[in-house]
Amino acid sequence: MSEEAREKPSNFIRDIILEHNASGRFGGKVITRFPPEPNGYLHIGHAKAIWIDFGMAEEFGGRCHLRFDDTNPTKESQEYVDSIVDTVRWLGFDWGPHLYFASDYFEQLYVWAVELIRAGRAYVDDLTADQMAEYRGTLTEPGRESPYRDRSVEENLDLFSRMRAGEFEDGTKTLRAKIDMASGNINLRDPVMYRIRKATHHRTGDAWCIYPMYDWAHGQSDSIEGITHSICTLEYEDHRPLYDWYLDQLGVHHPQQIEFARLNLSHTVLSKRKLLQLVEQEKVSGWDDPRMPTLAGLRRRGYTPEAIRDFCERIGVAKADNVVDIAHLEHCLREDLNRRAFRRLAVLRPLRLVIENYPEGKVEELEAVNNPEDPSAGVRRVPFSGVLYIEQEDFRDPAPPKYFRLSPGAEVRLRYAYIVKCTGVSRAPDGSITEVRCAYDPDSRGGDSRGRKVKGTIHWVSASHAVPAEVRLYDHLFTVPKPDDAEDWATVLNPHSLERLRTCRLEPSLVGAAPGERYQFERQGYFCVDSRDSAPGPLVFNRTVGLRDTWAKIEKGERRGTL
Ligand code: ATP
Ligand code: MG
Repeated sequence: MSEEAREKPSNFIRDIILEHNASGRFGGKVITRFPPEPNGYLHIGHAKAIWIDFGMAEEFGGRCHLRFDDTNPTKESQEYVDSIVDTVRWLGFDWGPHLYFASDYFEQLYVWAVELIRAGRAYVDDLTADQMAEYRGTLTEPGRESPYRDRSVEENLDLFSRMRAGEFEDGTKTLRAKIDMASGNINLRDPVMYRIRKATHHRTGDAWCIYPMYDWAHGQSDSIEGITHSICTLEYEDHRPLYDWYLDQLGVHHPQQIEFARLNLSHTVLSKRKLLQLVEQEKVSGWDDPRMPTLAGLRRRGYTPEAIRDFCERIGVAKADNVVDIAHLEHCLREDLNRRAFRRLAVLRPLRLVIENYPEGKVEELEAVNNPEDPSAGVRRVPFSGVLYIEQEDFRDPAPPKYFRLSPGAEVRLRYAYIVKCTGVSRAPDGSITEVRCAYDPDSRGGDSRGRKVKGTIHWVSASHAVPAEVRLYDHLFTVPKPDDAEDWATVLNPHSLERLRTCRLEPSLVGAAPGERYQFERQGYFCVDSRDSAPGPLVFNRTVGLRDTWAKIEKGERRGTL
């Protein structure tokens, strides 16, 4: 074990590995795997599994495999494989040469299935899926044995090879393990090992028309790869006795399965089936829609891999199910971006402001800091002129109580620039404000520490220098914290989860900002150049997250004991 491993606060998975290492169970080796099924894009829940699988291996000087459990050709595709490979890499993990596919083991699995038939431990069944469900029994009642259960070994071998040869139609026959139809664990009631499916597989093509069930493939795949610790979520706890049974029957290497509680996140759904529905019903623009809890979506939204890994670390590993507030994830992101993102001036809903006493045609280049958290980030120059845009919400007429921004007769500081006083407004026939007029104080230039003090500071851009852009604002995809509990979760979709602002104006240093670049727009939040719609063409920014940190408040409240 490395020094680093010794210093970390423990969790129960680490404790189990430490125990194994102490007893020499796997000779001190730690080989884990992350085993996605390529039937969708990875989501933030998978990030937790990836973090644990790769993290534990790294910590103990072992290795982690990326293995695709690709046993279901009708639901899987190369597109999903590619996106998963890309995403795990983006998160910052490396499997070296250890990229595997369960489909590479199809022949070995077949040989093992024949071995079980020979040992009288597996049989070909003719029951239909419906009949099988009927025979299976319930949690309180034992199941019944299939009338085909006692076929001879010879007959089973013959039928199974003919299943492989394609003689039978989909759904007409299965291969089942012969275990115990009265078992208290339904997974042990003669589980199906193979079904006939005349479908083209994204890797094996038409080589096979029988496909192993996940449960038959998973444990053996682990065993083939010499996995020592097969870490998975709690729903597989009841499958462990079956995995153990298969491995014991075959007498092959036996990993230790360890289950942990899956991540649930508030205001979203983390089930590939439900995420696929959102995509197919076009509730979102795709798997990488920035509102999606997929890692591709979070990445496009502007999340950093560092923030996601930090989040995984902070929520820890538990054995009991719970729901993590999405504010916690956003908090980790803000902390990271606050350290790294350059500050920029951007006006999302522009209102023209004319400084009447500013010399016509004059332009000043004012200095602005890139990141107050990081002096090494330096400064930039921002052009200032007599015609600016300010944010519509930074002007009110009349001013409501305690409004320290601009209103008739009021003074405000323009960030990095001068103090201006509002001298008048122009209105459209419908009463809406079209322009604000001001007078500036030429002696007030400077940052907050110099010159006169006024209560409010607002941001701006110079009208003739500004870059147009579209900015997309996002809200939670669902209006309730636990959308999974809703009868019809589609009814709790947030109709206002996306707002597109198409007339935004940004400071000119943002010209040519590359897809994926992240900035803080002062007073507005963190934004990221959209990687799909931005280049070439007009700039499109996604708001990654606002500046208000509700989680920090919750944490503080807890520390003070008020919550
Ligand atoms: P879903 O329920 O969304 O379809 P899955 O478990 O079927 O997910 P897999 O591709 O089989 O998806 O998952 C790969 C690995 O990720 C598994 O080991 C699984 O336990 C783990 N995993 C899936 N969802 C979560 C989650 N919400 N939190 C933690 N780990 C998860
Ligand atoms: Mg699964």
